[in-house]
Amino acid sequence: MADTIDVLIPEEKIDARIRELAKQIDTDYAGKSVTLLTTLKGACFFSCELAKRLTVPVFMEYIQAASYEGKTSTGTITMKLDVPVDSVAGKEVIIVEDVIDTGRTLSAVKELIRERRPASLAVCSLLDKHECRIVPFEGEYIGFTIGNDFVVGYGLDWDQKYRNLPYIGIVR
Ligand code: 5GP
Ligand code: MG
Ligand code: MG
Repeated sequence: MADTIDVLIPEEKIDARIRELAKQIDTDYAGKSVTLLTTLKGACFFSCELAKRLTVPVFMEYIQAASYEGKTSTGTITMKLDVPVDSVAGKEVIIVEDVIDTGRTLSAVKELIRERRPASLAVCSLLDKHECRIVPFEGEYIGFTIGNDFVVGYGLDWDQKYRNLPYIGIVR
């Protein structure tokens, strides 16, 4: 039987919010170029739409992080796909993420990227499950703050399914 998916954030609202985020980034980075460092796979849809709305020059780069939960509470991050140092060193880098949950992935990823000496480093996430933090972490650009539901769509998967939904939904 097919899963039931409730719409949490419709396509029009996502589109409108991405335009607002792009305006804000355009203002903050006026006169500069930005490197959107997108985390695969979930943030792909979001970063493409964001890039299309930006008027500052944009460079697209990608990373894929895998997290391994050890016996202690701190997860360890390894890069399944890494970005060349030259693509971030001295650049205005914005890490583009689908959702910040515990904060573990992004705090580790941000440290790894910071070691490559970007000119600046910020985080832009479509979604923020702010109440779910285990590691303190704040993103500079947030699309929507949501509660503790597992969401799919607009790039986010459930067992690799539902990434192509044009809205953010909750699987029932
Ligand atoms: P964190 O390290 O912040 O706990 O984990 C963030 C990652 O967990 C996200 O980038 C995403 O891949 C995954 N994740 C967290 N919450 C959700 C969710 O509600 N739906 C989906 N599809 N992935 C999630
Ligand atoms: Mg992610
Ligand atoms: Mg996933």
